[in-house]
Amino acid sequence: MNFYPGDEENRYRDQMRELADSYGWPEMKALREEIEGLAIERYSMTFQRQLAARGLIGLTWPKPYGQEARVDQQFLMAEELECQGFPGYGLTTNQRGGGMLLRSGSPEQIAEHLPHVVDGSWTYCQGLSEPGAGSDLLSLKTRAVRDGDHYVVNGAKLWTSSAHVSTWCSLLVRTDPEQTRHRGLSLLLVDLKSPGVTIQPVWVMGGWRVNAVFYDDVRVPVANLVGDEHQGWRVITGNLDEERAMSFGGTETRLLCARLIHRLSEKADELSESDLTTLGRFIMDLEADRLLYLRVGLSAARGEDTSGTGPMSKVHGSELAQRFIEWASELLGHQTLYPEGDDVLAADLEQQLRVATVLTVIGGTSEVQRNIIANRQLDLPRSN
Ligand SMILES: Cc1cc2nc3c(=O)[nH]c(=O)nc-3n(C[C@H](O)[C@H](O)[C@H](O)COP(=O)(O)OP(=O)(O)OC[C@H]3O[C@@H](n4cnc5c(N)ncnc54)[C@H](O)[C@@H]3O)c2cc1C
Repeated sequence: MNFYPGDEENRYRDQMRELADSYGWPEMKALREEIEGLAIERYSMTFQRQLAARGLIGLTWPKPYGQEARVDQQFLMAEELECQGFPGYGLTTNQRGGGMLLRSGSPEQIAEHLPHVVDGSWTYCQGLSEPGAGSDLLSLKTRAVRDGDHYVVNGAKLWTSSAHVSTWCSLLVRTDPEQTRHRGLSLLLVDLKSPGVTIQPVWVMGGWRVNAVFYDDVRVPVANLVGDEHQGWRVITGNLDEERAMSFGGTETRLLCARLIHRLSEKADELSESDLTTLGRFIMDLEADRLLYLRVGLSAARGEDTSGTGPMSKVHGSELAQRFIEWASELLGHQTLYPEGDDVLAADLEQQLRVATVLTVIGGTSEVQRNIIANRQLDLPRSN
């Protein structure tokens, strides 16, 4: 089997390299400042527009919106993006919004939204979790009541990442109060500028802002219903499968690992046998994680069910990222806690030590993912 990509596979990765070459240190510094200002990990509006200008959003989507690229081409581009230290989070959230519409949206919704996704002007967030409904999402309380050609939405969502920079929210609501659990839910696209929407910051450990979003009598056109009424769970499971097939820490950790090796190479003879063995194991695990992530992506592209393998990739990548960052921070010792001067690696490790704590929670906790793997992948009976 040949694992080396050829010219055709590298087409979009090379475009990313060209983009990277146009960024000097001042531009990179400005980008880092923008990311810090927006307070969302790896999110930048200006970078999103750069990607859009090069046609690099929605690569695998059909024409006229995407490039009909293959999943492995998109994988290589996304990997290059992370390896160059560029912010990829906005790309994945917006692609997820567009992907949902391509799977479940009406032709009118696709025609309205997709051009704005690929030109980088509209951004999307996901409003699922509530104060009392995280792992047990099906107990959510946000209601939408039909009133003519509108729904009137009331409720509160918690942990909505990037709501404060988003144009639209994919909002999961209960439309049929007579039904319970997955029956009677619907998915609405809510314009976050609508009267009655209030967005408040919630700060998490990595210096990262998520949001509490309140919906008070918010009127949403019925035309913004995605999929059929009361069938929102079907729409959202497609989103969750796609989300869990994303890289949760593995790709960024490979970059951190490469930077650490570069740093250590100056004083390799000071490293113990045990440190070298641990480093070697991490390199192998990171490569295995890369292949698992690629396998899930290719499997999804073939139209296979990834509801069991996506969570495997998520648990593996997120827990590996945490283990590596803890080990690397200990290895660098006090430098990580008190970065000296322009020691960007130490500063990044310190920040990642805090950011990585959420990787095993966001997108569904590791415990919940393991339950899903047991059920979907191993065919074991449900625990409840
Ligand atoms: C930084 C961040 C960003 C987020 N972004 C978004 C977003 O954009 N949109 C959104 O909708 N949500 C978002 N979330 C919410 C996230 O999906 C939930 O936090 C997560 O699903 C867990 O829910 P919870 O916090 O309510 O914890 P709980 O569900 O209360 O879980 C508490 C503990 O109980 C365990 N547990 C619960 N049920 C089970 C079970 N059946 N078996 C075994 N153990 C169990 C959990 O593993 C966890 O350890 C975000 C969260 C974070 C931290």
